[in-house]
Amino acid sequence: MSTASPASIPELTISVRELRRQPGTSKQVQTVFQAPGDLGTEVIGIPEGAAVELELLLESVLEGVLVTGTASGTARGECVRCLDEVTLPLAVTFQELHVYPERVLAAEESGDDTSDEPVVVDDAINLESAVRDAVVLALPFQPLCRDDCPGLCPECGFPLRDDPGHAHRQVDARWAALQDLLDVEQVEGK
Ligand SMILES: [Zn+2]
Ligand SMILES: [Zn+2]
Repeated sequence: MSTASPASIPELTISVRELRRQPGTSKQVQTVFQAPGDLGTEVIGIPEGAAVELELLLESVLEGVLVTGTASGTARGECVRCLDEVTLPLAVTFQELHVYPERVLAAEESGDDTSDEPVVVDDAINLESAVRDAVVLALPFQPLCRDDCPGLCPECGFPLRDDPGHAHRQVDARWAALQDLLDVEQVEGK
């Protein structure tokens, strides 16, 4: 793969003109696009503008175009325990049938609900929602920098990974009160 900056594909639209009305034919498409702004969840996702590789098999079927694809990119987020950056390579697969508009009309006339089906528009298909759904599904709800991340010290916020033995002197609340008194006396005795 070249490292050239990814082409911006408007709304992730792929032409299927050659496949139209040619059931049984197929074509493979390999492309790189720039991630749209919301390719992920609130805690982790592929950053806007980052390169996402797309490998597609487009198959012409009677009803429309069947898309089988893989989207690969790198998600970034924050470890929920220690707030360090989490980098997660992703390769997600998806499959979706994009139906021809006249099929939708025919189905609607016979009373079928087709509102969820993606439609071939102007001999092109839009893959944004398929890619987004697949990416979001593959992302962890609670990203971790590593499975056994020990997190932060609950008392001072120190990253425990940097010092597994990190601990605070456990002082009983009653002793703490006495300690305060002693401190006061020491200060006054000066
Ligand atoms: Zn962590
Ligand atoms: Zn601490």
